[in-house]
Amino acid sequence: MPLFSHTYLREYLRQHLRTAGVAAATAGEVADNLVDSSLKGHDSHGVTLIPRYIKAIHAGDLDPEARLQLTRDAGPVLSFNGNRGFGQVTGRQVMEHAISRVKEFGVCIAGLSHTHHLGRIGAWAEQAAAAGLISLHFANVGSRSTVLPFNGLRPRFGTNPFCIGIPVAGNPPVVLDFATSMIAGNKARIAWNEGRELPPNCAVDNKGQFTRDPRWLMEEPLGALLAFGAHKGSGLALMCSLLGAAITGGETESSPRPKGPGIINNMLSVVFDPTLLGAGEDYAHAVARMLEWTRTSRDDDQLLLPGEAEQRHYRERLEHGIEIDDVSWKQFISLEGASFPSNHSVSEA
Ligand code: NAD
Repeated sequence: MPLFSHTYLREYLRQHLRTAGVAAATAGEVADNLVDSSLKGHDSHGVTLIPRYIKAIHAGDLDPEARLQLTRDAGPVLSFNGNRGFGQVTGRQVMEHAISRVKEFGVCIAGLSHTHHLGRIGAWAEQAAAAGLISLHFANVGSRSTVLPFNGLRPRFGTNPFCIGIPVAGNPPVVLDFATSMIAGNKARIAWNEGRELPPNCAVDNKGQFTRDPRWLMEEPLGALLAFGAHKGSGLALMCSLLGAAITGGETESSPRPKGPGIINNMLSVVFDPTLLGAGEDYAHAVARMLEWTRTSRDDDQLLLPGEAEQRHYRERLEHGIEIDDVSWKQFISLEGASFPSNHSVSEA
């Protein structure tokens, strides 16, 4: 698999997007967001998404020039329509608005509907945490349903991500960020590309039998993913759709699915100032104490807190580079008309 430095990939992705007609500032922002996801270990939500995004632009599912639209302003409650624009841009803009409302009201609830793919939701929690704020995010995926409700026989949910970020004084924030399916759908794509099996008990084939073959999530006839945590994860997936889409004006998975390559997300974010609750400014000590208490569950470095896996990947990949699976790399090469910088590669294997 070819291995590249993050600096090479930032420029490489930016050029592909520019070639697809994306404005320079947007191309740079999308490229940086995707490279950062790869640096944080989420190849599923990183650089390998570019060929699909470019297809979505050509199919008219992703509008690179769309502008975020404020559809309702109720003070601490804001509603936005992303108009199928890049989620990397609309997500950042919505969080900026929310952060400024928290400064005014102490809390902001922001709904964002009809945006193109928001990528790694943890990025939005990190943005809030950098401003000293706690955030909760409930999102649904408005593409084909791929996830079975608990005890269900037909897929009815997207991989609907859920995320909470909490700032930690003097340290990176605690960020719990995951798909409510056993694995994110794009992780099945990476496993398929790399010829790997899926982890056990994540997916079923079209007859409802457990399978570890990712083809059942990639090709017709299709199987399905299971929700994580049995009835609890399935319930959370449903809540992500109800909160993220039904009440924000977005489309739940019950709406007819568009067939194109685009990925539509809808998301509800709750952002607030932690110092306004009972612990006041002491909240930071209480958080640090609980994190340390959790860590003392064992004496070596094998226990990770939410967000630490991403920080470890980040340090490692910043230094050693980011691998791109061969199938994705071929997709990049076949993207037409792109110009390729050639002097930043770490190495190619
Ligand atoms: P995952 O299964 O890798 O879980 C990630 C979470 O678990 C993180 O909070 C991480 O810090 C924590 N974690 C990882 N290893 C750990 C360990 N050993 N001990 C303790 N905590 C640990 O994530 P996923 O479900 O594959 O989701 C991957 C990404 O996909 C997320 O960023 C999510 O937002 C994104 N996603 C996006 C969409 C979308 O439509 N935009 C849909 C689904 C998922």
